[in-house]
Amino acid sequence: MLNKRQRFLTAVAIFCSLALCIAPLQVAGGGPLLQPSPRLEEVDLASYLREQQLAAARLREVTPTLPEARTTVTRATMHVVQKGDTLWSLAQQYSVSVAALKQWNSLRNNLIKVGQTLQVSAGQPLISRSGTSTSYQLLWPVIGTVSSGWGYRTRFEKFHYGLDIAAPTGTPIYAACAGVVEYAGWKNGYGYCVFLDHGNGLKTAYGHASKLYVKRGQSVEAGQRIAAVGSTGFSTGPHVHLEVRINGRLVNPATVLPKTR
Ligand SMILES: [Zn+2]
Repeated sequence: MLNKRQRFLTAVAIFCSLALCIAPLQVAGGGPLLQPSPRLEEVDLASYLREQQLAAARLREVTPTLPEARTTVTRATMHVVQKGDTLWSLAQQYSVSVAALKQWNSLRNNLIKVGQTLQVSAGQPLISRSGTSTSYQLLWPVIGTVSSGWGYRTRFEKFHYGLDIAAPTGTPIYAACAGVVEYAGWKNGYGYCVFLDHGNGLKTAYGHASKLYVKRGQSVEAGQRIAAVGSTGFSTGPHVHLEVRINGRLVNPATVLPKTR
């Protein structure tokens, strides 16, 4: 029989050996789980998750109201105004209404000028030139929610030279304008990305894709599927990072995208 003291010492011995057995297991099993993934190192996890939830909620709200026409984008017909053209003659020529012509071209009155480029059909106007000035009107490349605009962001404390459109992984990314594929592949922070050259000094880039459907040197139409949304490269959730360059300078994509999607 063990006395009180012996029983106590036995219990302590058992406890200690158990603790020694368990302790290394905890380190081995629990260690890697506590290690932050390098991608999230600079991001506060709680606020990141909260943002993802908000983005998902916004997507649920926004997606059903977006027009389905985006998947069958047609390039708008453009007409350069000739001597003798009037809004009425153009309306007749292209079987559209004067009101539609005014709306597509943001005309405040019925005056049009010789040489002026007008959109004369439904669809998306692309690059148009009027005299010496060139105006660019791109297509929205993705159906989704703008999750980050052009400018300073508090989260990363650096300037954001693009527009982020959040959408579920696999959502098609469309060419914002007709052009040629300048680059398609992996590029540092961009992850899998596509760079398009549209001529006329216009270039666009699409980052963080999960899949690429085009190759370097290939011609693409406006609205053609070029990639799928993902979260590759420096990204904290599925979205496309859209960049627009005009004559070599990055510009705010919002200034060349239609106000409505
Ligand atoms: Zn971005």
